[in-house]
Amino acid sequence: YFITVEGTDGSGKTTQIKLIEEYLKSKNKSVVLTREPGGTQISEKIRDILLDSQNSEMGITTEMLLYASARSQLVSEVIRPAIKEGKVVICDRFVDSSYVYQGFGRGIDLKVITDVNRIALDGLVPDITLFFDIDPVDALRRRSNATGLDRIEKEKMDFHKRVYNGYKKLAMLYSDRITCIDSSRSIEEIFGDVKVCLNELMDF
Ligand code: C5P
Ligand code: MG
Repeated sequence: YFITVEGTDGSGKTTQIKLIEEYLKSKNKSVVLTREPGGTQISEKIRDILLDSQNSEMGITTEMLLYASARSQLVSEVIRPAIKEGKVVICDRFVDSSYVYQGFGRGIDLKVITDVNRIALDGLVPDITLFFDIDPVDALRRRSNATGLDRIEKEKMDFHKRVYNGYKKLAMLYSDRITCIDSSRSIEEIFGDVKVCLNELMDF
């Protein structure tokens, strides 16, 4: 299985991913946890370039191509082989992040993102995508208190609202694949919903 996890910055993805991993392991699944941008040596180097606040002059096309490059390496080096071995792969962000951040956020034509990522994905589609749905104003307030902000988190709130609305739109368009989870609630309540999705997907 291939599960992807999406949400605006500070939506609580990381916390839920840890719980998902524990839960699947308790069901004797062999789990591979990975993230975007990153997850391989090369992709983590690309991540450093992308998130470095010194790189404020980065063009939006350059940025989109770097995300796609990191993704291509991750798909071929980690995700495809793990799925082939019967493992459950959980990826913190995937191509939907490019639609919402580079597309809805930066204004790149969604068709361009589809075309570029057709090459990067080589036909790979997640079985299920969990979208952690929380208002970006609340989410980022939580986040800046916790750890400080990276290059993209520092964008104006307008940007984060476009990203958030992009997620809502994708969730409507691809409602068969993307499940919206109300993340304004407690960790336990949120995970309760996550579990329902996993149980349904994996027949537990
Ligand atoms: O989820 P995580 O915090 O690891 O993501 C790293 C940063 O990269 C975030 O600030 C996220 O907003 C940004 N990002 C992006 N476009 C993507 C994926 C991530 O701007 N396609
Ligand atoms: Mg982040």
